[in-house]
Order: sequence, then structure tokens, then C-alpha cells
Amino acid sequence: SCKQFPTGPIDTTSCDFETVESVTDALYTHLHDLVQTPFFKYFRVDLYRDCPFWQEHGLCMNRECGITTVDENEIPESWRAAALSKVEMPGKDELHHLPGCYYRDSDFCFIDDMSEGDYVDLTANPERFTGYTGPSAHRVWSSIYEENCFGVSHFDTLGALSEGEEEANTCLEQRVYYKIISGLHASISTHICVDHFNQSTGEWGPNLQCFIDRVASHPERLEYMYFNAVLLLRAVSRIGPYLSAYDYCGGTGNHETDPYTLDKLNNVVHIAQNVGKFDEKMMFRGPNADILKEEFKQHFRNVSRIMDCVGCDKCRLWGKVQTSGVGTALKILFELDEKALDPKLNHNLLTRSEVVALINTLHRFTESLHAVNDFREMWQREEASQ
Ligand code: FAD
Repeated sequence: SCKQFPTGPIDTTSCDFETVESVTDALYTHLHDLVQTPFFKYFRVDLYRDCPFWQEHGLCMNRECGITTVDENEIPESWRAAALSKVEMPGKDELHHLPGCYYRDSDFCFIDDMSEGDYVDLTANPERFTGYTGPSAHRVWSSIYEENCFGVSHFDTLGALSEGEEEANTCLEQRVYYKIISGLHASISTHICVDHFNQSTGEWGPNLQCFIDRVASHPERLEYMYFNAVLLLRAVSRIGPYLSAYDYCGGTGNHETDPYTLDKLNNVVHIAQNVGKFDEKMMFRGPNADILKEEFKQHFRNVSRIMDCVGCDKCRLWGKVQTSGVGTALKILFELDEKALDPKLNHNLLTRSEVVALINTLHRFTESLHAVNDFREMWQREEASQ
């Protein structure tokens, strides 16, 4: 799977691998530019909440696990706490409170309380190898996979539903859930392998063996990364008119939407409209559809809370960005009808955090697909030199 492109249809979508491959470079370029813009690079996050599920002692002391935060005064006023809580917080009756976080009924993830947390410049804290590993990391991953149980449990330990068994005795929704999680895990692994620290040379760079071991030797993991990209592209396509009408002002110091940001965003939306061929209507249709959807939502919310148990600040930061991004995509696909998506009728549909998380998460997956091509070329060069 490292040498060859996967080909043909991507399961549970109407898109094929070749189509995604054909737009990966352009999509990656636009997204890479977009996430450097002021609007998309600052993310507000509360990284220091207690793990709600177990006593977490596995704090990563490596230098690479740390992050730097941004002084709030550097953040355009219109985005700051006071303005945010005025503009973004949903009404009281829509809020379900847990200490430090909330969700609206339509949300697929818990969102940090806007009055707490710090601003982080995501470009200054890139997701890469940190050395976070061992029982703490494994416990988090295994708890995330355990959230895969819908109704009657077919799943007991990490991997029980994984690697080939996922078709047996499981409903479509459960399989989609598993693909999302496994694809996210594979994408995070890919970033770790792209920007890896070589302990013997003391240098950073791509590590082909790491990628083969963690991703390429499991072809389905590779496929699930494509699946996630298509799912996110479908969400961006659906929400496209809303994103194009969004107010991206503030970052350039004036009060008009920054034309560069909007132009890049529109390029991404255009590609998403051509490639995001995931049919959300095939999900949650059976007799127990409402119950299943509630369960799906509840499981995904729990995954977002499990992020508070990640014992490495930088990993937790990117875990939160990406679970929020996927949660936002799921909300766009499964909770919002065409009328709700109209930017004129519903201009407060998504919070700034949701928009930033969605675009950064699509960037992360696209970067992974881009890296797959680089790793494939490395592999071919190594083979040729032998
Ligand atoms: P792990 O990746 O920990 O996987 C554990 C087990 O899960 C494997 O043995 C395998 O059986 C199964 N598995 C692995 N991949 C998949 C898949 N795609 N689908 C299904 N099953 C799978 N480390 C960093 O260096 N940088 C980071 O930014 C970072 N971010 C993280 C974010 C989160 C939310 C978490 C939980 C961990 C993060 N880590 C990060 C740690 C990293 O993901 C690994 O846990 C760590 O590198 C140890 O890897 P491992 O080879 O033991 O397997």
C-alpha cells in the first residue's frame, strides 16, 4: 500500500481515490495559505481542565509537549472574550453545563467555556512528534475506541472492532463512526512520522519506517484518511455559502473582511463542492434512527471530553482542534437542514471556534494525504537504490 495508490470508490462515499488525489495538491496549497491568516491561526482553548474519566498522572515532560500561548492583547478586539461571549454564546436554555464546558443540543462535541482558556497561535505550535507515548497515550486511544459501542456491544478491547472485523454485525452508523476515529488516529500518526525527531542524529524530518509501521502496513487506515477528507469536504461544501458570507474582519486591523482570506476560502469551498461526495442522507434512516443519532452524538461528545485526559499539552491542543473540527462537520451534515444553512436567515450558525477548527482539521487531513505521496516517492527511491 505504500507503493501503490488505493484506487476505485472510497467506501460509503460516491467519490473515488483518484478524484481526491487529483485535487490534493491544489487543496493543500490553498488550505496551507488559509491557516496562516490571522483569522484561522488563533484558536481559543482551555487546555487545563481535569480529566473527567480517570486520574491522569501521565504528564509528558518533554520540551516538545509544551505550547506557547498568545497575549490576549495581540488578538483583534472583535475576537476577544467579551465580544466572543456576546456574539457566540448560545442562549441559556440552549446550554447544557458541565464545569468549564457546554454543548448545545445540536453539537457533536463539548466546547470550552468561552470565558476560560488561552489564545494559541496554531502555526507557532505545529502538530508533530513529541515523544508522548506509553500507558497514558494508549489509555486515551483505547477509551476513544471503546466509545464505538452502539446498542448491543460488539466491542470489548482496543481493536476488537478493528482491522477487518468492522463489517461484521455492525450497522452503517457504527462503521462510519469507526472509520472517523481510525482515520483521525492514522492522520495524527502520519503527522508524527512526517515531522519526526531522529534521536541518533538529533535532526527533524520524515521517517518512512514510522509511516509504514503505523499506517501504510494497514491499508484500511490509509483509506479511512481519505474517507475523513471526503466527509469534511462534504461539510465544507454544504456550509460553503455560509462560510463565504462569514465576517473575516479584524485580523488586518481594519473592519472589512480580509479579501485574501476570503479568496483562499472560496477556492477551498469550490474544490469541496466538486469532491465532497458523501451522502449524509443515507445515515440515521432506520426505525431507531433518532436513538442511534443521539448515541452517535453522545459518543462523539465523550471523545471530545477524553481529550482533557491527553497528558501532553501540544497533543491535547491538536486533539481538541481536530475533534472540534470533526464534531462541527458532523453537526453540519446531520443537524442542519437547508433552511438553517442560509447565511441570511441564520448568521450565528457557527461560532468562530467552530469555523477555525473545521478549516484547520481539513488542512490536517489534506496534509496527511499530501504526505502519503511524499512517503510513496521516498519508498520508490529507496527501492531503486537497493
Ligand atoms: P498508538 O498510536 O498509541 O496506537 C495504540 C494501538 O492502537 C496500536 O497498537 C494499534 O493496535 C491501534 N491503532 C493504531 N493506529 C490505529 C488506527 N489508525 N486505527 C485503528 N487502530 C489503530 N504523539 C506525538 O508525538 N505527537 C502528537 O501530536 C500526538 N498527538 C496525540 C493526540 C492524541 C489525542 C493522543 C491520544 C495521542 C497523541 N500522541 C501524539 C501519541 C501517539 O498518538 C501515540 O499514542 C504514541 O506515539 C505511541 O504510539 P504507538 O505506536 O504505541 O501506537
